[in-house]
Amino acid sequence: MAMLQHIPNWLNGQETQPSSNAWLDKYNPHSGRLLSKVADSSAIDVQNAVGVAGDAFAAWAELTPVRRGQVLADIVANMRCRADELAECIALETGKPPQDAKGEVGGAILQAEYWAGEGMRLYGRSLTSGTPGKYSHTVRQPRGVAGLIVPANTPIANIAWKTFPALICGNTVVIKAAEDSPRIALLFAQLTKEAGLPDGVFNVIQGHGQPSGAALVKDPRVAVISFTGSTEVGRWIAEVGGRRLARVSLELGGKNPFVVCDDADLDLAAHWASLSAFSNAGQRCAAGSRIIIFKSIYDQFRDKLVAKVNSLKLGTAVGCDLGPVINQRQQQNILAAIERAKAEGGTVVCGGNVPNAPELVNGYYIQPTVIEGLLPSAELSCKEIFGPLATLHPVADIQEALAQANATEYGLSAAIHTRNVDRAMWFAQRVKAGVANINLGTFGSEPHMPFGGFGSSGNGTREPGIEALDVYSELKNISFLTRNQFI
Ligand code: NAD
Repeated sequence: MAMLQHIPNWLNGQETQPSSNAWLDKYNPHSGRLLSKVADSSAIDVQNAVGVAGDAFAAWAELTPVRRGQVLADIVANMRCRADELAECIALETGKPPQDAKGEVGGAILQAEYWAGEGMRLYGRSLTSGTPGKYSHTVRQPRGVAGLIVPANTPIANIAWKTFPALICGNTVVIKAAEDSPRIALLFAQLTKEAGLPDGVFNVIQGHGQPSGAALVKDPRVAVISFTGSTEVGRWIAEVGGRRLARVSLELGGKNPFVVCDDADLDLAAHWASLSAFSNAGQRCAAGSRIIIFKSIYDQFRDKLVAKVNSLKLGTAVGCDLGPVINQRQQQNILAAIERAKAEGGTVVCGGNVPNAPELVNGYYIQPTVIEGLLPSAELSCKEIFGPLATLHPVADIQEALAQANATEYGLSAAIHTRNVDRAMWFAQRVKAGVANINLGTFGSEPHMPFGGFGSSGNGTREPGIEALDVYSELKNISFLTRNQFI
């Protein structure tokens, strides 16, 4: 793979230079070296992309869902053929270890497969009527141009998560790729064309959130906006998209609780707590960043967790547990958050700094970090950091555990570890989260399972799962009256 290349937009089935010929720098998070130059798109580029997608809409929407599903199945086949290349690109752009990049591609393929099959379902409902001889049913119809905005943390999964349900419903797509994972979006676009997706149905805009992402949100021709990213940007999109009554789906941040009860299998709990907090370098919306522990087993569990965390291997080689965070700005944000936590009374029980191994010092690495002694109201106990950072919180019992779990503006996911099924279900029913896992991690959704959050984690939509159809299609009720009086 060439080490430095220019990564353009993708419009109407071909690579397209940014109109201003401006390019932004993308750095390799492992080495800190310049990796590529990325199209720094302007609002004009976005308008062109939306125009192209608008022109392609009628023909794509006119195909039957079954036919659209067949095209998507061909894309799936091509993703399988090029899975290694996709994984290599993700590993390079994000710094995640190769097995994690491969796993992510596998997850994206599964997602794509699920939605390709939806072409043969896309069910409506048949309805009764109060009028004799009147028959009613619902159909799902495409909305138009879908503007999809994604982050870099799991780039191909994020693209697949939105693109496939949008396409099966008959929409055409303009995706705003993440600044930190631009090439994977271009690769994906190329393989959709090879698989036979008509030109203009899938388009990619590279560049910053401002101006390119914002231009997509503002464009009145974009009927549906699906955004995955920070709560702060999500709020702005809700306002601007809402003003023009676009359909807006928001998948936002989380500060997800991971509860360890006194009767938990502590080795299993330490395993899942470590994965929840530190896999993908903690860059998961569903990361378990608040670990809530019964006081009676607090010391025992903390020691197991710290032993586990100290055994984690940083780097990009096969078998490493976590790589760097995505860019230098994020690395600096995390270090500053650790310093503020210390000033608020937190004690770093492991990690807390950049690693000093020579092969890691140029990358954007942060040691997996566990902090205890913070009040539930401290900044780090409340605010999402999006890095390999977890705080520990002792509680007396399950009531206090639930109260702390719910003391957050977010509500994305939660996990509880206990051998008591009554306690597990009591908690799962009451925790403020769109996903509640028992004896698992805070992450791990599958393509057919709805994912999304309460509170500041979203705006009530769910993607993926069948519920994503409500994001990407309009429901129409069709009624007809038969002349049964003449039979
Ligand atoms: P971010 O909000 O900064 O950026 C996400 C995307 O939005 C990028 O492509 C960016 O260019 C674009 N963007 C930024 N400003 C914009 C604007 N004004 N208008 C339109 N687009 C704009 O988020 P990030 O730091 O890249 O990603 C991390 C965040 O994403 C975390 O908060 C994380 O929890 C969240 N996330 C949520 C989910 C989920 O499913 N709920 C999944 C992954 C990540």
